[in-house]
Amino acid sequence: MRRVMIIVALTLAGLLWSAATGCVTNPATGKTNLNFFASTESELDIANQAAPEFKKAYGGQIPSTPIQNYVSDLGHRLAAQSERPELPWEFTVVDSPVINAFALPAGKIFITRGLLSKFDNEAQLAGVLGHEIGHVTAQHVGQQMSQAYTITGLGIVLGIAGEVADEDWLKILGAGTSLGGGVYLLSYGRSQENQADELGLRYMTRLGYNPVGHIQVMELFAREAAAAGGNQQIEFLSTHPHPESRIERLTKIISKQYPDYQNTTTYKFDPESYQTNILKPLANLPAPKHNPAQQSQ
Ligand SMILES: [Zn+2]
Repeated sequence: MRRVMIIVALTLAGLLWSAATGCVTNPATGKTNLNFFASTESELDIANQAAPEFKKAYGGQIPSTPIQNYVSDLGHRLAAQSERPELPWEFTVVDSPVINAFALPAGKIFITRGLLSKFDNEAQLAGVLGHEIGHVTAQHVGQQMSQAYTITGLGIVLGIAGEVADEDWLKILGAGTSLGGGVYLLSYGRSQENQADELGLRYMTRLGYNPVGHIQVMELFAREAAAAGGNQQIEFLSTHPHPESRIERLTKIISKQYPDYQNTTTYKFDPESYQTNILKPLANLPAPKHNPAQQSQ
């Protein structure tokens, strides 16, 4: 009983403390959110602990330096257009056939080889990378974790003590869902997804990529989902809103914010560059190391 009281008291103290110190203004959205993990130091702490697990579960880095470098270069150029260019950005192509992309705090971004193989131009890749960069600049993981902490209460005590084991970080990060080989995938709220979409459009257009490329990605997801009929390889769809609703929303935003989108001298798609730098070398690679079918047996 006494222990329970102590925990309740600590939790309440934590909540008061959080009310005093946990609200921060986000640099990308300008909005004030509850986030105990807003400092780059705590973001790096989370990312460094979770990244090796994510990478391993998705087959490790793709065995192609040119593909890895090409994606990393585009990612860095996009991130340089963001509100947090100073982060230690890292873009890793993982050797997995599943269709997914995800972001850890402090700018650790992963994209699967399966997703790369579905694009047919650079604007589409810029759209997905821009969206993931948006999750990072808007600090969505920290916000999700802060919410989970506040809900569980216990987390706040752990957070104050700063003693959180590796597995706990992964559990907290996975406050939403768990899939496949035991890796916890981040699941954001719909408003966070919308925010990431808008930030993604901002970054990709600053580099001159056609924002319609991001709509093409949603169309691609919709097509893939219809073709697969619930196949779990469309992993991206388990953590993201339905593509149709995003297409509708993106179409409205693009015609309002980027009315010049049909101007092909202002905005590029770059299918040739994508073909040469990604699709051709990808076709010559051995089968992906990550085999989701084998893992679920
Ligand atoms: Zn997202």
